Amino acid sequence: MSNKRKPINTKPKDIINYWMQYMDECDLNFDWSEANQVCWRCGYKRKLYRCHIIPDSLGGKDEPNNLVLLCSQCHEEAPNVEDSKFMWDWIKSFHSPLYNTFFKIRALEEYERIYHKSFINELKNRNIVTDHALYKFWNLKVGRTSYHFGHPYENISTITGTYKMHLDTFDKKHPNGKYLDDKHILLEKSFESLTDSVCSLSKKYNYSVWEGGTRNIYSLCISAFHPMVKKYYGISIRMLSNGYYKMCFTEELNPNNIPRKHYTIDIGNNPNEILAIIEKEIKNFNFEYGTVSKTNPFYYVVNPFWKKMNGNL
Ligand SMILES: [Zn+2]
Repeated sequence: MSNKRKPINTKPKDIINYWMQYMDECDLNFDWSEANQVCWRCGYKRKLYRCHIIPDSLGGKDEPNNLVLLCSQCHEEAPNVEDSKFMWDWIKSFHSPLYNTFFKIRALEEYERIYHKSFINELKNRNIVTDHALYKFWNLKVGRTSYHFGHPYENISTITGTYKMHLDTFDKKHPNGKYLDDKHILLEKSFESLTDSVCSLSKKYNYSVWEGGTRNIYSLCISAFHPMVKKYYGISIRMLSNGYYKMCFTEELNPNNIPRKHYTIDIGNNPNEILAIIEKEIKNFNFEYGTVSKTNPFYYVVNPFWKKMNGNL
C-alpha cells in the first residue's frame, strides 16, 4: 500500500451539506452549524482533515458521500474497510452528551483496562463525591506531564496516567483513605445543594454570590451594589459543624473576610426556610436602597456550573 495520498478535491462545505441531510445531530458529538470546526468523532475544536469512508486504495471515491471531517488523531484511528456504513457506526458509538469529554471518557476505559477497577469507583471509595472534594482532588500537585511533538495534545494514555498520579497523591495525603468521613460528606453535600439554590435565587435578583474557602469554609455572601446609595449590601450565611446555619448582615463581598463572631443570627438547618429568609432580606434591601444594577453579578463558588458564570469583580 502506498503512503502517498491522492489530493482530495471535494470541498469540506460540500461534505457537510451532504451529510447534514442524513445525520441527526442528536446522535453526534457536534452541531451541524460547527461541523467545519470540530472533529465529527471526538467533538474537539481541531484542525480537520477530509477522511475517506471507503479508502481510496479500495476504490472509494472523492465525493461528499464518501468523506467525513476528522481531526488527525481520529483520522489515524478511523476504520479502513470496504463497508460504507461502518464509519458512521464507529463515529456515533463515541457520542457523548458533554462537550470536550471524549478523551477523558476514553481514558476512564483505559484506566479500567489497566487496573481492572473503575476510576469512578476509585473516587467513590475515597468519598471524592462532592464538588469540594473533586475540586481539591483535581488541584492536587502531582507529577508533571508533557507531550511529544507530533503527538496529539490529549493523548489517552497520558490522561490515564494523570488519573493514576492523582489517586496516588491523594492516598499519600489521606492515610485513612477518605476525603472526609461519611457524616461530614452528607453535610458538605447539603451545603452544596443549598449553594446551588442560593445561586439560582440570587440570579433572579441580580445578586452576586461568593463562597468562602480559606477562613469560613461552608459560607456564602449574597450581595449586590445598590447604585442609589452607591454601596454593597448583603448578608452572609455560614454552616456550623452540626449542619445548622448562622447569618449576619454585611457590606463585605467575600465571606473569608468576615470574623466568625459576626455571624449571630440563627436561621436553622431547613434549606427551604433558609432560602425564604434570604429572599426576604433581598427584597428588604431593594425596598430600602433601590433596585440593584443588572451589571455583572458574579458567582464565585466551587460548583462547576456556577463557576463558569463568574463575572467581573
Ligand atoms: Zn477527533
